[in-house]
Amino acid sequence: MKNHTVKKVVIAGGGTAGWLAAAALSRQLGALIEIELVESDAIGTVGVGESTIPTICSFHALLGIDEAEFMRATQATFKLGIEFENWGRDGDRYVHGFGQLGKATWMGEFHQFWLHARSLGFGGDIGDYCLETRALNHRKFATSKNPVLNYAYHLDATRYAQFLRRHCEARGVSRTEGNIREVCRAKENGFIQSLLLDDGRAVQGDLFIDCTGFRALLMEQTLDVGFEDWGHWLPTDRAYALQSQPVEPARPNTRAIAHSAGWRWQIPLQSRMGNGMVFCSEYQSDDEARAAFLAEIDGKPLFDPRLIRYRAGRRKKAWEKNCIALGLSSGFVEPLESTSIHLIMIGITRLLQLFPFDGIAPSLQDRFNQQSRDELEKVRDFVVLHYKLTEREDSAFWRYCKHMSVPDSLAERIQLFRESAQVHRNADELFRPDSWVQVMLGQRLYPQSYHPMGRLMSEDQLRQALDGLKSNIHRAVDKLPAHQVFIERYCAAASTAVIT
Ligand SMILES: Cc1cc2nc3c(=O)[nH]c(=O)nc-3n(C[C@H](O)[C@H](O)[C@H](O)COP(=O)(O)OP(=O)(O)OC[C@H]3O[C@@H](n4cnc5c(N)ncnc54)[C@H](O)[C@@H]3O)c2cc1C
Repeated sequence: MKNHTVKKVVIAGGGTAGWLAAAALSRQLGALIEIELVESDAIGTVGVGESTIPTICSFHALLGIDEAEFMRATQATFKLGIEFENWGRDGDRYVHGFGQLGKATWMGEFHQFWLHARSLGFGGDIGDYCLETRALNHRKFATSKNPVLNYAYHLDATRYAQFLRRHCEARGVSRTEGNIREVCRAKENGFIQSLLLDDGRAVQGDLFIDCTGFRALLMEQTLDVGFEDWGHWLPTDRAYALQSQPVEPARPNTRAIAHSAGWRWQIPLQSRMGNGMVFCSEYQSDDEARAAFLAEIDGKPLFDPRLIRYRAGRRKKAWEKNCIALGLSSGFVEPLESTSIHLIMIGITRLLQLFPFDGIAPSLQDRFNQQSRDELEKVRDFVVLHYKLTEREDSAFWRYCKHMSVPDSLAERIQLFRESAQVHRNADELFRPDSWVQVMLGQRLYPQSYHPMGRLMSEDQLRQALDGLKSNIHRAVDKLPAHQVFIERYCAAASTAVIT
């Protein structure tokens, strides 16, 4: 279909996905295309999605966003990783830090040395060799050049969409408020022609981006592309969300604390704590989850918990006819590793790279769909890993997770690590070997054997090398200010409640 030139893009939905798409398209292609975004104030946004991963920093650079301004506007704090509690066993704790573990060589990753040291009775914790993990543990942070920390943000989702909207409107994106009543299609080829609003206005376009959230108004309700359900691998299907007053200075990390039928999150912002309770409705009722959740909130709740229902899985196509799904309309992997906003950003980047100026060629569509699928499946595998590797048998939920079958792609990785400590990163894959290592070891998967590279050094040399790495990290972290102090200095939002 090469006769459908694209001059106007219509974005349906104004949540994080819609406004990020508008911001990137206007910044990169604004001179070539017209952009209109339609959203309904009455429907609103999902209002969660507050923990991110480091790729957000480069995406913001692409948009020309000033970091301190963005942080003030969204009450943001910095994030160096995720602290997992009670996952391997009740009482366990480990960190998935954003940084590099020790020093890798061309022959193998750092953990191969560490495993050898461990077999000799020294080496400490693998997290001791990650700058970001040590800074996280000591609640230190700075955006300094020495040391350079790999970081992301915690942000207020509602304020983020508002911030992006202001950013876009200043750059010529037009916004139309209204409820989309009908999606109108051409008889001859089924392409979307316009969105019909409640008041009778029709918003026409050449390319439509479905950012309508879980509704997937265009992609599912109109184009009916189908959904691949992953609930058997990712059984949680509900979450309560609630904000509370902070009771301690903001940590530079998200907390993911496992409970009997799922896990709960804590995401610290400058003036409040974001809390969430993720659970599986087959093993815990809404009332039970709500009561358990409220009992765990530390600060004063700022409103009643809000229940969100979801389904894990992916839309069978991310691009169909002249419509592309971004955000929740394209699929969802639960928020354990904070990957959804990243997936929106990578989807937008791909759209910019494959943009169909001269018409919608099936080869472009196929490429887009293939990449979207690969990325989401790899993220899915990484998240499933956390459940599968539990040793918990204290509830029906955890017994299910421990004994469930997993995708072959994940089963192979687990086996490879279990037998020989090998990890790898495939093309288009988000998580680096260091991420896999931290989670697998954190969840008590200790390999049966490892690469002999550690044995090429004497015991003394290995001990000295590891001590040297650790003391460099200690010195670097000692120089950093407390995270809370850095925020107050660098990007304090107007209404920040200062806690000392
Ligand atoms: C429990 C939970 C926790 C999460 N935590 C994280 C996290 O920590 N990190 C992360 O990266 N992601 C997280 N996510 C995902 C994240 O929330 C989303 O990826 C992100 O908010 C993008 O949402 P969206 O823009 O696709 O949809 P939404 O925010 O739902 O926006 C949909 C938009 O479509 C509009 N709309 C819908 N129907 C119509 C209509 N008929 N007419 C007009 N407009 C319409 C709405 O008004 C709205 O503007 C989480 C998700 C859930 C469910």
